[in-house]
Amino acid sequence: MKIGVPIEIKNNENRVGMTPSGVFELTKRNHTVYIQKNAGYNSGFLDEDYKEVGAIILDTIEEVYAAAEMIVKVKEPIEPEYKLIREDQVVFTYFHFASSEVLTRAMMDSKAVCIAYETVEDPDGSLPLLIPMSEVAGRMSVQQGAKYLEKPIMGRGILLGGVPGVPPAKVLVLGAGVVGIQAAKMAAGLGANVFIMDINMKQLRYVSDIMPNNVISEFSSEYNIRKHIKDSDLIIGGVLIKGAKAPKLITRDMLKEMQPGTVMVDVAVDQGGCFETTVPTTHQDPTYIIDDVVHYSVANMPGAVPYTSTMALTNVTLPYVVKLAEMGWKKACKKNPSLAKGLNIVKGKIVYPEIAEAFDMNL
Ligand code: NAD
Repeated sequence: MKIGVPIEIKNNENRVGMTPSGVFELTKRNHTVYIQKNAGYNSGFLDEDYKEVGAIILDTIEEVYAAAEMIVKVKEPIEPEYKLIREDQVVFTYFHFASSEVLTRAMMDSKAVCIAYETVEDPDGSLPLLIPMSEVAGRMSVQQGAKYLEKPIMGRGILLGGVPGVPPAKVLVLGAGVVGIQAAKMAAGLGANVFIMDINMKQLRYVSDIMPNNVISEFSSEYNIRKHIKDSDLIIGGVLIKGAKAPKLITRDMLKEMQPGTVMVDVAVDQGGCFETTVPTTHQDPTYIIDDVVHYSVANMPGAVPYTSTMALTNVTLPYVVKLAEMGWKKACKKNPSLAKGLNIVKGKIVYPEIAEAFDMNL
């Protein structure tokens, strides 16, 4: 198969759809891979690295789309790309169709086969192509929190791990899913006192089994949250109720109960945020202060660490890319129900019920 990897042209997107290691897996199976010039640059991969494993470098995005039977990328196509996508071409990327009718209609008009990373689903209901980005964001939340706890950036001026003779900081993690577990692990590794909360006892049992002694699990309730926020230095929000807006676990009135300079990192911002005072921010201007509490709520945290994020993403997408290249989309989806869940729009028709529902369209 002929596979194309264009540069991501969405604002501030530095990741790339395939690493040289991925290209190698395809070229050794006799597939042809076209990489747009400099596509991997911001993720740390040079054109020479791709050439070495047999990729063909093309100068323009138009050439990549024209040459490829399947496009592998990261973000949803944006307006200038719509006209480049053609009938029967397979496009494998994050789409998030339900949030854009314009994109949905453009992809229907293209008659392409759109397979969305975010809806590829394993039999246990987990979303294997979303997990790595939650892992990145969870780990990063502690890195960011530690930074904004420094006094010059208006934080409390406390070191997460303390030093001999001085107690460490207290970190409260809301949600013990992918984000929460990674955050707790990082904070614990730095020596902080960590409390992690969830309403799912299975998750709390797991956390209690695997975490070191400086991580304490506690059932999530308003009473318990109110108790802990009073002396927490860093609060990380990583809750998710699938398909719904995040519950507001920290309300505006609670900020007054906190110590001045407390930092709140709301990773769940992309689902509306789990703090009432959350407003989405960007990497350019990531924080704001309300009632002396520092808020960090960047909606695309993994975008700041493209080197790690690209590899984390392509590690999980590659097995599917190989299947699609080897068998073609029809056979690959027939043989692999998880991948079949990724089919969103096929040759002009929406095939994923939630997307049709979102726009009152027919399947
Ligand atoms: P997950 O499903 O693995 O975990 C969410 C956890 O929240 C679950 O264990 C659930 O039981 C728990 N929960 C639900 N209600 C709760 C409550 N009232 N109190 C405490 N816990 C509660 O989800 P995840 O992969 O960890 O993702 C968490 C959020 O982070 C999602 O909204 C996701 O979209 C977001 N996210 C944001 C970024 C970013 O860049 N900002 C990146 C990746 C993920």
